[in-house]
Amino acid sequence: MMMVWFFFLGLLFGSFYNVVGMRLPKGESIVAPPSRCDNCGRRLPAWELVPVVSWLVLRGKCRSCGARVSVVYPLVEVATGIFFALAFLHVGLHWELLTGLFGVSVLVVLSVADLHYQRIPNKILYPSMVVLVLLRALSHPLGIMTYVEGAVIGFGVMFLIALISRGGMGFGDVKLFFFVGLFVGLAGTLMTLFLSSLIGTLVGLSMRVAGKLKPRQPFPFGPSIGLAAILVYLYGEVWLSLYFHML
Ligand SMILES: [Zn+2]
Repeated sequence: MMMVWFFFLGLLFGSFYNVVGMRLPKGESIVAPPSRCDNCGRRLPAWELVPVVSWLVLRGKCRSCGARVSVVYPLVEVATGIFFALAFLHVGLHWELLTGLFGVSVLVVLSVADLHYQRIPNKILYPSMVVLVLLRALSHPLGIMTYVEGAVIGFGVMFLIALISRGGMGFGDVKLFFFVGLFVGLAGTLMTLFLSSLIGTLVGLSMRVAGKLKPRQPFPFGPSIGLAAILVYLYGEVWLSLYFHML
């Protein structure tokens, strides 16, 4: 039952993270002005801002001008709801749940920002790193050293990849792996490196097949890293033990 509440909490927060990820990188306030249609500027009444439901009722269009409202909005809301519920299921009512919900939240906000602006804004990433360091000092279920090692090695490996790829990999993604390391620990970081490149490759290929991406056109890698890190946070230990069982 508690899980359902965490799902609804996640829906509400997800709706807020859409706003944060869209507005903070542009230096806008996240509380004012109230939400408007990007196209016609009409102010949206409360009933048009209900997570997921409003998007479905309005079939993804603005009621007055008919402009499309991106499917990213409801997807971010549902995903945040599911991640919150799973974090509760995975961690239970423990200090670590605070870290879990915080990590999920930051990764969702940064993914939204990266999708819209093709960059990972430092003004969100840096303060988030500081908060995560403090949270990790309080709660470190895998032992504190593994989180330090994850951060250093995740950053180091990505830094090398960025050097070798000469701009193919953004420096924002490199710094993001410092956060990921603190969040999931060393083994989790290595799994996230692998899983995020798998997700990124699949997404890139299918976008190319669908004709939504020109050859050599870059696309944001942050959302793949965010999704991979969250999945590893939730299920990494299960995968690791399965792997060692097979050996
Ligand atoms: Zn409109």
